[in-house]
Amino acid sequence: MSTSGALAPGSTIGILGGGQLGRMTALAAANLGYSCHIFAPDAESPAASVSAAWTRAPYEDQNALRTFAGKVDVVTYEFENVPVACVAFLETLVPVRPGAELLRVAQHRGREKAFFEGIGVPVAPFALAASEADFIVAVRQVGLPAIAKTTTEGYDGKGQARLDAGSDLAAVWAALGHRELIVEGLVDFVAEASVIVARDAAGDARCFPVGRNVHRNGILHTTTVPAGFDDALLRQAEAVGQRAAEAFGLIGMLCVELFIGRDGRVLANEMAPRPHNSGHWTQDACLTSQFEQLVRAVCGLPLGAIDLQARQVVMTNLIGDDVSEWPRIVAEPGAKLHLYGKRKARAGRKMGHVNRLIL
Ligand code: AMP
Repeated sequence: MSTSGALAPGSTIGILGGGQLGRMTALAAANLGYSCHIFAPDAESPAASVSAAWTRAPYEDQNALRTFAGKVDVVTYEFENVPVACVAFLETLVPVRPGAELLRVAQHRGREKAFFEGIGVPVAPFALAASEADFIVAVRQVGLPAIAKTTTEGYDGKGQARLDAGSDLAAVWAALGHRELIVEGLVDFVAEASVIVARDAAGDARCFPVGRNVHRNGILHTTTVPAGFDDALLRQAEAVGQRAAEAFGLIGMLCVELFIGRDGRVLANEMAPRPHNSGHWTQDACLTSQFEQLVRAVCGLPLGAIDLQARQVVMTNLIGDDVSEWPRIVAEPGAKLHLYGKRKARAGRKMGHVNRLIL
């Protein structure tokens, strides 16, 4: 392992996106002596409040992007819906890790599924629909029960509808905004999981231990590690992460959300080219957190050790009013509370999380 060509501590990492993932990346970067400069249009930014600099401008503002590029040594992104054109423009001025191509694929559920099929990873049966008429054909092709999802910009269960025998397809098409949809066959899964892989410029790739995820109302509720799957399943899950990282020549971090099928297959659901909510447990249960690993990968430092340091860790999200439980959680032995500094606890908003460890 070499640190030649690495960005020395004291350098500045530019982060596109101003949310909690950027905040935790900036905190990890600070621990290694780097500064962060956030680029985000939002009025409030959990990331900017712990960073050295903030450019508050639209992602389309090329003048602001050019100035930003002149002030940073490398750029990464913490928000998946940064316009690809913004990343492609920055790439002409400064290294952006991971680059625009991975983002382009990850932003579209249809491209994502085609990518996984292309690298030999099974996915749910699917069909795309650009019009109401297409939608009816797509549902017939995939069969019921199924799930319709907007191909872009859906997250945390938003932009989705379950389709059963009696569903009114015209109403679903309208409710989802008359936009391009993907129809997915309902996967009969025994569990959901995710694999998070970091890869550096030299091709060293490391997967964090696989986590078992439980969702509530379409939003991640808990991640538990060890996941309790047998070794063959764990190897399959890691292979998905490794293969995806290789295929893109990833420099940075990639999370693949998985279904563990009742038939023993591991299917890919979607991917995110950034740290992921299902990797927050690494902050307290791994020597190197997912955030530090991202900083290491994009700055050219060797990847850090990722072995599990606890017998078990459970990450629980604090959504909306859950955050009012903080006085009890902060007093709990074995619990590590992480809050994002957001002022208003709206329903469905991720306010923080707690990692509960059994050592
Ligand atoms: P997604 O936005 O694709 O991550 O979907 C949110 C949640 O909906 C997933 O974590 C699953 O619990 C469920 N889900 C999504 N797609 C499918 C599918 N094809 N089959 C079964 N469950 C699904």
